[in-house]
Amino acid sequence: MSARTPLVDQFRRRITYLRLSVTDRCDLRCAYCMPERMTFLPRKEVLTLDELHKLALGFVGRGVTKLRLTGGEPLVRRDMVELVRALGRKLGDGLEELTLTTNATRLAEFADDLAAAGVRRINVSLDTLDRATFERISRRDSLPQVLEGLAAAKAAGLAVKLNTVALKGLNEADIPEIVAWAHGQGFDSTLIEVMPLGEVEEDRVDHYLPLTKVRENLERRWTLTPSDHRTGGPARYFDVAETGGRLGLITPLTENFCESCNRIRVTATGQLYACLGGSERVDLRAALRSEDAEAALDAALDMAMRIKPERHHFAIETRGDAPALARHMSMTGG
Ligand code: SAM
Ligand code: SF4
Repeated sequence: MSARTPLVDQFRRRITYLRLSVTDRCDLRCAYCMPERMTFLPRKEVLTLDELHKLALGFVGRGVTKLRLTGGEPLVRRDMVELVRALGRKLGDGLEELTLTTNATRLAEFADDLAAAGVRRINVSLDTLDRATFERISRRDSLPQVLEGLAAAKAAGLAVKLNTVALKGLNEADIPEIVAWAHGQGFDSTLIEVMPLGEVEEDRVDHYLPLTKVRENLERRWTLTPSDHRTGGPARYFDVAETGGRLGLITPLTENFCESCNRIRVTATGQLYACLGGSERVDLRAALRSEDAEAALDAALDMAMRIKPERHHFAIETRGDAPALARHMSMTGG
């Protein structure tokens, strides 16, 4: 295959969506995501602003139309707004959507800059509206900043989707409240099952809550009608009659959605992971740092298309087992 051809894998799935992690660092320590004493990468291993920019342009040149910046927490990276501005200039010129996933602790400061750079929609992760539960889950008392960030996003005209990881014994009882609140704010709401990625202190199996159960519980109070809405992602959507909002469910463990996968992930060190649930990878940083970077990047992307697996391999670990994959979600950004 030659450069500039679209990215199509061996299962004839066309890759149009890149999730690019811009840092592995974070100001929270969500217990299901990383340990309190997380070891972060030495800064020199992380791609520079210029490298991230080149890499993203390389993907856009191969037909990627949607770019999501993530992390770790993307807004803790100092030159993040600069990167968003640079990438925003590609909107309408190959790139159709530029978006990010954030914990919103610093969103109040950046919402206007993001909107000005061309960001229209963001995903915000929020697992509870209860301050004590927030602190228990994220190990930081930051709910007030997150709520300020969400208000700023709304004021800046950004469309918001709230992502909530369903956690047995932690936020299980808060889920109806957070969904109703999100819908009341005009936000979409999506629930996610916890995935076995990376060592954390607690056993995830203790908090694994299948969404089939959450859905049954929600259906006792609300009318959920399956919706035709699709975002190209793994969520299935329902309209909630009583709140007038839309609810997405992402069920990687109880249901498989790999057939229609259109995405690829790159870590902050430039490792392309062909699947969130697999270890197949290609080193794009080596390509970017080689002499003819553009050609090397194209060749690396062709390789990625050859190794992308047909489906993910994870299942929730049984008690005491090591996680299915050693890397944390903060590396690949979810
Ligand atoms: N820091 C940003 C945030 O929290 O939105 C972006 C990165 S974070 C890794 C992306 C998403 O992954 C968050 O919604 C988080 O809840 C989710 N996540 C992290 N670890 C997870 C796990 N083990 N299983 C399921 N979701 C996870
Ligand atoms: Fe940080 Fe996001 Fe992981 Fe929470 S889920 S620790 S906010 S990277």
